[in-house]
Amino acid sequence: MKIILKNLTKIFPNRTKGKADVVAVNDFDIEIPDGYLVGLLGPSGCGKSTALNLISGLLEPTSGQIFFGDDDVTKLSPESRGVGMVFQNYALYPHLTVRQNIVFPLENFKGEARLSREEMNAKAEEAARLVQIEGLMDRKPSEMSGGQQQRVAIARAIVKRPKVLLLDEPLSNLDARLRLQTREEIRRIQKETAITTIFVTHDQEEAMSISDLIIVMKDGIINQVGKPQDVYDDPVNLFVAKFLGTPQINTFKGRVENGKVYIGDEAVMKVSNVPDQPVHVAIRPEGFIPEANGPLTCHLSAVEVMGRDTSIVSTNPAFDGAEIRSIVSSDIKIPANQKEVHFTIKPHKIFLFDWHDEKRIYFETGK
Ligand code: ATP
Repeated sequence: MKIILKNLTKIFPNRTKGKADVVAVNDFDIEIPDGYLVGLLGPSGCGKSTALNLISGLLEPTSGQIFFGDDDVTKLSPESRGVGMVFQNYALYPHLTVRQNIVFPLENFKGEARLSREEMNAKAEEAARLVQIEGLMDRKPSEMSGGQQQRVAIARAIVKRPKVLLLDEPLSNLDARLRLQTREEIRRIQKETAITTIFVTHDQEEAMSISDLIIVMKDGIINQVGKPQDVYDDPVNLFVAKFLGTPQINTFKGRVENGKVYIGDEAVMKVSNVPDQPVHVAIRPEGFIPEANGPLTCHLSAVEVMGRDTSIVSTNPAFDGAEIRSIVSSDIKIPANQKEVHFTIKPHKIFLFDWHDEKRIYFETGK
């Protein structure tokens, strides 16, 4: 089911005198193709849950419209929209068994849609098989691990075969290993069912790893939409560049002068079409090549060899944080007692952003 959001806005009126209203979702205008898994990504408080709750019908928008396919569902109740929801805290009924939890959404079908007990059981078992908990149907939630409980919650959300599946931070309560496993599971289940799914997370790695599309938002505003790799390779502003990628992108105070990009007094790259101006220079960790005659000089703090990769930790007076993190192949040997390291920068791993509005400045590499 295709989802279209048209100028969707949610404003929470302030309750404190002198404080502004909160625009939690600001003019969302987006089309999500049928069968996609979409990661809705942004820092805490940016409006992710509000956006999801508008799509589910749990919240009413201040303005704008929501379409599922060609149907305007803006005024429909959550039950009539055909959405399945999974929350961070599982929200299972503790006194019911797994089977009873999964069957629950099927119990109140009315009239012709009403199902027999056998039909309900068959559907519950099919959903349980899909999330691989068919052997646990008679347990209570308290007798299961967090990962298993989350699978039950997913089975309960998909048992009605919803048109749209909405997941709000579904992995947050799981430990690191289970998080990894469960996110792969969500991807598999989503592929098998082909249900259009929106997955809310503040964890960029989680969103990048399983999404067909990511929506990066900040302060209620969509900053960028695209395939995870495209957004990583081509961020529209400094916020998006910093939000995606571990270790974080390295940012420097820099300037463009006479067709050259300067970090401090060192010209690190030629550019042919950027007027002189102060800029944020951002370089991905994998964008540094250690070379004896490289133009960027940094003070070497540490060399950490981690199997395949070597992490070089260094500092530079123009750097915008504590330590520059660069990742190179472990085939490149850097003596740890070396005082300085010189880098050449890969042109496609360096981005320039306007000093004031932090929007991307596109450049051509000069000769
Ligand atoms: P988190 O990752 O921390 O859950 P989020 O990105 O999901 O955050 P929301 O919960 O959607 O963010 O909140 C967005 C903004 O709207 C926040 O500033 C929040 O304080 C505000 N907000 C959310 N719900 C309400 C409400 N019912 N009344 C007033 N303000 C609200």
